[in-house]
Amino acid sequence: MYSKLLVSSLLLSLLPGCMESGYLVTSLAGNPAAANRPAQVTGPRYTNHRPAATAEETVPLRIKGSFTPGDRAKILRAVNEWNVALNGFVRFTIIEDSGASVANARQSRPWSIMAAEGISPRVVPGPTIALAHTQPLPGSGGLMIVHVDRIGTRDLGSVVMHELGHVLGVGHGEKGLMAALYHPTDQQCVDKATIAAVAAKRRLAVDQLNWCETNVASAAR
Ligand SMILES: [Zn+2]
Repeated sequence: MYSKLLVSSLLLSLLPGCMESGYLVTSLAGNPAAANRPAQVTGPRYTNHRPAATAEETVPLRIKGSFTPGDRAKILRAVNEWNVALNGFVRFTIIEDSGASVANARQSRPWSIMAAEGISPRVVPGPTIALAHTQPLPGSGGLMIVHVDRIGTRDLGSVVMHELGHVLGVGHGEKGLMAALYHPTDQQCVDKATIAAVAAKRRLAVDQLNWCETNVASAAR
């Protein structure tokens, strides 16, 4: 059942623009402007609300496939920023990819963040190309497929941060982190609209959680 779902998920990824939770670009050429930007010296500034005493919900993540050490560091950054934003009410945890079952009655099944490469032509006809997409599995857990060979000069950390929004059940927004089209500067942190959607789903007040006050690009100025 798992492998059948995996196959259908991979087939889905061949159809650009068809998946609701995809993360799309209109060109594989990359974003030269982003590549030329100076390294960030300041991170996004998050609000600092009082954290939850105990995590009510843990979302386990497993990192699989041929991510480079640099890619893994970017994934960890995305996870850490989400955990700041979630403020202890929900918490992402990274679990070892041991292959052993971690299933038990109290823990939900993990989400797998998987590097996909060479499973489809690099250039797919059509108006948009998926960089990544996220598919829940029945019950709990799911798959996040990241097309690492399409990322180019884009920021894999932003791509994963966007997809983690889908993992939490947030759909696409008009702009900011959850916009369907990749943007080189507007998707660098967990913004208020995104965390408000998380709060609504979990019946939390938005100011129990944290969000970045401005995006990284403007905060650095
Ligand atoms: Zn998306």
